[in-house]
Amino acid sequence: MVTLDNLTVSYRQHPALHHVNGQFAPGSLTAVMGPNGSGKSTLLKSIMALLPLSGGRVAVSTPRTRRAYLPQLAEIDRSFPIDVRDCVLLGCWPAVGAWGGVDAGLLARVTSALHSVGLEGFEHRPIGSLSSGQFQRVLFARVLVQDADLILLDEPFNAIDSKTTAALLTLIRQWHQQQRTVIAVLHDDLQVRQHFPQTLLLAREVVAWGDTAQVLTEPHLRQARTLAEAWDDAAEICNTDQRLTGKVAA
Ligand code: ADP
Ligand code: MG
Repeated sequence: MVTLDNLTVSYRQHPALHHVNGQFAPGSLTAVMGPNGSGKSTLLKSIMALLPLSGGRVAVSTPRTRRAYLPQLAEIDRSFPIDVRDCVLLGCWPAVGAWGGVDAGLLARVTSALHSVGLEGFEHRPIGSLSSGQFQRVLFARVLVQDADLILLDEPFNAIDSKTTAALLTLIRQWHQQQRTVIAVLHDDLQVRQHFPQTLLLAREVVAWGDTAQVLTEPHLRQARTLAEAWDDAAEICNTDQRLTGKVAA
C-alpha cells in the first residue's frame, strides 16, 4: 500500500532521510520512532506528497482523497479564526471540494465525530480557545470524518493528558480493527510495545523495521542514538547517486 523505494529527502542538500526502503502493508499499524531530527516528520510529509523528493520514490496505492494526515501540533497555527465545526469540516475538503458539498449528512458526521472524541457541544468554540488536549481531539475528529484508508499521525499524544491519550488510543485501535493502515510517530516505548504491532526505527536511515519486539531492542536503540550523535550537518552533503548504506556521508 505504501512503498518506499530508495527514498531520499534533503533540505538544502542536507539529507533528512536517505535511501529508505520498505513497505507499510495494507491494514498495518506502525509506530515510527527515532531520535529528534531523525526524519520522522519528513517521512510522513513525503507519504502525503507535501515535499519534493531528492531521490527515490514513494508509491502510495491509496488515492489522495483517502489519506488523512494529522501534523505535529507545533506546525499548526491555532490563531486562525475558525470554530471547531469548520476545522473538522476541513478534513472533508479533499473529498467534497471547498464548501460546495457541505450538506446535512456531512454536518451530522461532524457532530458524531465530535461525540466520539468527547467534544459534543463544542461545534462553535473558536479553536484558539481550546486546551492542547481538546484541540488534539478536534484533529482526531477531523481524521474520523475523513473516513480515510491511510492515516498518518505525527506525535498525536504530545502535550496531551493521559485520559485523552487513552481515549485516542482506543480510536486508533478501532481504525486498526477496521483494516485501515495507520502510521504514527511516537516517543513512548512502553505505549508502542503495548499498542503498536509494527515499528519503524529511523535515524535518517532505517535502523530496523518490523515486529515491534524485534525492532525495539537495546542494540537497535543504541545504534539509533549513536547515529544521531554522529550527525554533523556541515559534513552531510548527500550524493543521491551513491547508495549510502550507513553513517553519514563523510
Ligand atoms: P523528526 O520529526 O524526526 O524530529 P524532521 O523530519 O522534522 O525530524 O527533521 C529532520 C531533519 O531535517 C532535522 O535535522 C531538521 O532540522 C531538518 N528539517 C526539517 N524540516 C526542515 C526545513 N523545512 N528546512 C530545513 N531543515 C529542515
Ligand atoms: Mg517531527
